[in-house]
Amino acid sequence: MTGRRPARRAAGPRAAPGARVAPGKRVRGKRAGLRIAIFGGTFDPPHFGHLALAEWARVELALDRVCFVPAGTPPHKRGGATTAARHRLAMTRLAIAGNPSFRVSAVECRREGPSYSIDTVRAFARAHPGAKLHLLMGADMYATFATWREPEAIARAAKLVVALRPGSRRSGGGRVTWLANPGLDVSSSALRARAARGRSLRYLVPDAVARYIARHRLYGGSRA
Ligand code: ATP
Repeated sequence: MTGRRPARRAAGPRAAPGARVAPGKRVRGKRAGLRIAIFGGTFDPPHFGHLALAEWARVELALDRVCFVPAGTPPHKRGGATTAARHRLAMTRLAIAGNPSFRVSAVECRREGPSYSIDTVRAFARAHPGAKLHLLMGADMYATFATWREPEAIARAAKLVVALRPGSRRSGGGRVTWLANPGLDVSSSALRARAARGRSLRYLVPDAVARYIARHRLYGGSRA
């Protein structure tokens, strides 16, 4: 969701990003702002690497909510078509089912024009006044952060939280919180390739996501 290419529009009702607001926790008698992480990605498909990272961040940073934000047309993906936003939204909703702290926002899929992270962060700030915003990403994404639109403004509006990924390492400096998450060597591209060869995605994606992929024959695989 860094933003260079135009986003496709996806149908769906309008709602504030990360809506279904629950009241913030009471801290020493005062109502503290919600602690929200925005987790952008292509989620083509969502996998256990994404979910483990989100849950790790939730626990380590005492987050009230992690909001998965599938990109409309992901600007950082070059070459190769991306699965339609409606499918990626549906799979992401299936993937997070059962975790009361997880949400999915269609804000980037609905937006016209490129999906810029700064626009998303500002949309969350408007929708959740007083919230402490975090922007969650893997180290591979953070390595490109300086090239995003208005990186300084993003870093002022949201705390950057970066997770290590197999093959990636800590880079840069500044106001970044690094997560000491266990590296799960799972990627959507490897899963798409597996599905295309008709291989099982079981234990790599939630069962409901695997069923959705099979039912819609998303990656060129069979229904089996
Ligand atoms: P692809 O293989 O198609 O590039 P991906 O697996 O990297 O996809 P994305 O949807 O692009 O998935 O990732 C969304 C965010 O999740 C990115 O910030 C990425 O760095 C992070 N991420 C993805 N997989 C992992 C993983 N296994 N461990 C930690 N972070 C991950």
